[in-house]
Amino acid sequence: MTSLPLMPVDPDAPGARRAAMPPQHLADLDLDGRKDLVTKLGESAFRARQVSTHYFGRLVRDPAQMTDLPASSRDRLADQLLPRLLTPVRELACDDGATRKALWRLHDGSLVESVLMGYPDRVTVCISSQAGCGMACPFCATGQAGLTRNLSTAEIVDQAVYLAGVAASGKVAGSPPRLSHVVFMGMGEPLANYNRVIAAIRRLVAPPPEGLGLSQRHITVSTVGLVPAIHRLASEDLSVTLALSLHAPDDELRDELVPVNQRWKVCEVLDAAWAYAARTGRRVSIEYAMIKDVNDQPWRADLLGRLLAGKLAHVNLIPLNPTPGSRWDASPKPVEREFVRRLRDAGVSTTVRDTRGREIDGACGQLAAAEDSGTDPAGEMTA
Ligand code: SAH
Repeated sequence: MTSLPLMPVDPDAPGARRAAMPPQHLADLDLDGRKDLVTKLGESAFRARQVSTHYFGRLVRDPAQMTDLPASSRDRLADQLLPRLLTPVRELACDDGATRKALWRLHDGSLVESVLMGYPDRVTVCISSQAGCGMACPFCATGQAGLTRNLSTAEIVDQAVYLAGVAASGKVAGSPPRLSHVVFMGMGEPLANYNRVIAAIRRLVAPPPEGLGLSQRHITVSTVGLVPAIHRLASEDLSVTLALSLHAPDDELRDELVPVNQRWKVCEVLDAAWAYAARTGRRVSIEYAMIKDVNDQPWRADLLGRLLAGKLAHVNLIPLNPTPGSRWDASPKPVEREFVRRLRDAGVSTTVRDTRGREIDGACGQLAAAEDSGTDPAGEMTA
């Protein structure tokens, strides 16, 4: 049994130690907030829209390229609205460039990663919501190092805007040039950084120039199952897809695989998921990493099937990805097929997720943001 840090300290609570958060950036603010700020700088309010159009509409992040701003204002606006948040350290690519993992250094030296995945019909980015993670799931590389800090709203959004720019440059051969999907499945537990993640989602879905203009349905928030936060998410006027990292249908095993289960049990977390589905009309995605001889037994498939039958749910089985020092392996394919068969027989829609990005440690649970990890560098990134 893993001993538990359980809930991270709420960094927004009075008296909590403030982590080294970055300077404010335009993506931290809605359009009205940006207008207020610009006006306080002595500039006309329309400059807020102009800079926002560059950033969200044209995916231009470098103030030097915003040549329609008068030189006299550009530096001041850039300082206040566009401080550099992410310094690219390295980009790795595989699948002929269709999967790319970016490693960033933040202003305080923390490292985070994001992954871009191109498909024939869509482009998805997987973004991080925290540097590290406090949830301590023993099969996940991110969980091993613990939590460094929450990301700011703009640090979250900037990952998507940067990678949307990479997609728009046509580097992802065979995929549409427009970013369409964002999944909060990178480093961190998004619902443990609740307010900033919600603000980031609002920026991602607001139409340009306020935001990126993505569809709410194309955004997925994945959680270990922080029950009060799931209820809170259901009460936002957002209909994003909820993914629940279940990984075991019984408390005894889930207490070990997803330690936060010691606080909120399988039945409570599933009740919260069904409440979310009822409120939003959105099917909940149940994530289940297939771990050899740990959670892949036929009886567990049957138990999972009974828990999910008749619910607005879809199971995503994830072949366990290797992580350093892990004592576990992925389930053999015949075992995986039998697990799928039993779930489908129970009437539960089930698919097996592809293992995109494995060679570059960019697949689920492999993000560890070490500067010396990874192979096959595709070249330094240019900001
Ligand atoms: N903290 C959130 C967001 C991370 S999403 C969450 O846990 O949902 C990353 C997904 O990959 C989660 O479902 C996680 O449980 C899963 N995962 C972690 N390590 C993995 C591994 N080694 N192989 C396969 N999936 C893994």
